[in-house]
Amino acid sequence: MPSNPGQKKSPQVLKHPIRIVPLHRPEAVAAAPAAAPHLTYRNGPLLTAVQVFTVFWGSAWKQAPNSGLLTQVNQFFDYILTSQLIDQLGEYSIPGRAIGHGSRIGTTVLTSPAPGTSVQDSAIQQLLQQEIDSGTLPATNPNTLYFLFLPDGVTVIQGNSASCQAFCGYHDSFGNNVYYAVMPYPGCSGCTGGLAVFNALTSTTSHELCEAITDPIPGQGWYDDNNGEIGDICAWKTRTLGNYTIQLEWSNQTPACV
Ligand SMILES: [Zn+2]
Repeated sequence: MPSNPGQKKSPQVLKHPIRIVPLHRPEAVAAAPAAAPHLTYRNGPLLTAVQVFTVFWGSAWKQAPNSGLLTQVNQFFDYILTSQLIDQLGEYSIPGRAIGHGSRIGTTVLTSPAPGTSVQDSAIQQLLQQEIDSGTLPATNPNTLYFLFLPDGVTVIQGNSASCQAFCGYHDSFGNNVYYAVMPYPGCSGCTGGLAVFNALTSTTSHELCEAITDPIPGQGWYDDNNGEIGDICAWKTRTLGNYTIQLEWSNQTPACV
């Protein structure tokens, strides 16, 4: 997993916590982890009843076939947020904070400003804050998760790495506990992993969703210093739930990717 040298702001921070979906690499999938995975809780927030608001950035989302993909992605959230996938995260509940089902509280297409062909993570944070302030996006509460999707042809830059070169999605937090995930369009073989575009997108989206619930401030919730977050340990191992392709997630109890 790449570290993010550009984000080293203090000598105490040796490595930014892992919060990306890495590119699909068959040899990496086959390799066993260097240390037996085990997530430990770091006393930070958890999203116990996640409220997902989907944001589709770019006018491309208003035209077919992207408009159809948008509908499919929203239907996926409506299904997955009350599914067995969320039930299995219950083992990461802590006293007084039980992780349970969530809901999709809305969706919007943002067309102004246009995203351009390359977008910095800092610009995404600024956009989200601006749209929250203006009321286009709902106000932040402790369960809010903004899930931003980009159209084909837009590269996302985070730290010193880029989508389709180092990652296929990530989640993070900024400001006063604003939680968000960013999903570039899976327009390269490293981010489809041999799957159809929609199936690749639901796989990587499930990865980031489960991580945002169990570790909304990367490294401060459930985390493994050697292996990263709940989804990182099982990256690109998929299964079918309902009509959807989702990623396996690490279970401490089993212990395995389930
Ligand atoms: Zn991850």
